[in-house]
Amino acid sequence: MTDTDVLIVGGGIMGSCAAYFLKKELGFAGSVRVIERDPTYAQSSTTLSAASIRQQFSTPENIRMSRFGIDVIRSLGQRFGSEADIGFHEGGYLILASETGRSVLEANWRTQTAEGADILLLSPDELKQRFPWLSTEELAAGAFGRTGEGWFDAAMLLDLFRKAARAAGAQYQKADVQRLTRSGGRITGAVLDDGTTVTCNTLVLAAGAWAGRLAATADIDLPVEPRKRTVFVAKCPASFAGMPLIVDPSGVWLRPERDLIIGGWGPGEADPDPAAYGDFEPNHDEFEAHVWPAWATRVPALEELRLIRAWAGHYDFNTLDHNAVLGPHPEVANLQFINGFSGHGLQQAPAAGRAVAEQIVHGGYRTLDLSVFGYDRIVRGEPVLELNVI
Ligand SMILES: Cc1cc2nc3c(=O)[nH]c(=O)nc-3n(C[C@H](O)[C@H](O)[C@H](O)COP(=O)(O)OP(=O)(O)OC[C@H]3O[C@@H](n4cnc5c(N)ncnc54)[C@H](O)[C@@H]3O)c2cc1C
Repeated sequence: MTDTDVLIVGGGIMGSCAAYFLKKELGFAGSVRVIERDPTYAQSSTTLSAASIRQQFSTPENIRMSRFGIDVIRSLGQRFGSEADIGFHEGGYLILASETGRSVLEANWRTQTAEGADILLLSPDELKQRFPWLSTEELAAGAFGRTGEGWFDAAMLLDLFRKAARAAGAQYQKADVQRLTRSGGRITGAVLDDGTTVTCNTLVLAAGAWAGRLAATADIDLPVEPRKRTVFVAKCPASFAGMPLIVDPSGVWLRPERDLIIGGWGPGEADPDPAAYGDFEPNHDEFEAHVWPAWATRVPALEELRLIRAWAGHYDFNTLDHNAVLGPHPEVANLQFINGFSGHGLQQAPAAGRAVAEQIVHGGYRTLDLSVFGYDRIVRGEPVLELNVI
């Protein structure tokens, strides 16, 4: 007799979505326990994220997962009650390309529109017409998500899923899991910081940026580690009608947040080493070195701004290919992964939570076939090549 049927380690958006879909939408009759060490979520990627959702990926499965995310955002009232609101602003993404990136942007656009995404491919003149405050210098094209893309309040989304999971019978427990216990091809449970062990039939590893470290305690190699990303918050005297989330060819991004501008920089292939687990100090140097120069080039009125503050969070970074690791371990089959989403996990959490719940209840995927993100590709060392990584 085990302590719980399903033990979910980590109560961020992944753990809470998995618990919600298991108990509420798939009617799982067994017990579900979610162990979260910090119910304030102060260091969780979920609450430190830029909280944006897009359909502009190159991999069909990534597009499908985010499209399910949009469906959930549009049906909050049906799922969580008429008061449910996460402040969704459907402002769109604008992904810009220089001549070098044009063919990839166009190929991605074809994939996205074939998936039903509402994305416009715009020439520099059309960009200028639609966004007069934008400099089109050195741009060859831009892809703009007219609907189905935007940003919201991540903490509110987490709160909705967590409360609904609890109301449906999932139990949340505050504890720090020290290690997983394993007997051959099975995970048997988790040892907590008070020295007790919780035994389980199935373990869902939803520990975000800490998942690789925890998997290693059961001799499982999961290439997920923390990578620091800093988000800068600035005030500018000018205003920018209809500004979407802009991704510049330089790798710098920005978007409005009420009357402020937020944004940051992704180092691309030159990504630094993993962050230390407790290090949440913003990389202030990035602002002068990368962010502000790119902002001022792309939106000249941003030459004049005041930096107000910055925060840093950790990507749950998959070093193989920046994409999800989802579903059962091929040999330790009662271990379910929901890890490695890097910079796009928040928007994919509903689809990922439902997928893991389907694996547990049905032993396979029922709605979206997400086997492309299975752990076996990690073993084979075969990355999923997503071209739109931010
Ligand atoms: C700066 C930044 C910007 C981002 N922007 C976006 C965006 O715009 N759109 C998007 O879709 N995604 C974005 N992301 C990515 C997204 O936030 C993550 O992929 C997603 O939140 C991961 O969710 P999670 O539940 O796996 O991780 P988390 O939210 O980190 O939750 C994991 C939880 O596990 C707990 N935990 C860990 N180890 C243990 C343990 N041993 N015992 C008990 N509990 C444990 C932690 O306390 C934590 O609460 C961004 C991330 C960052 C850092």
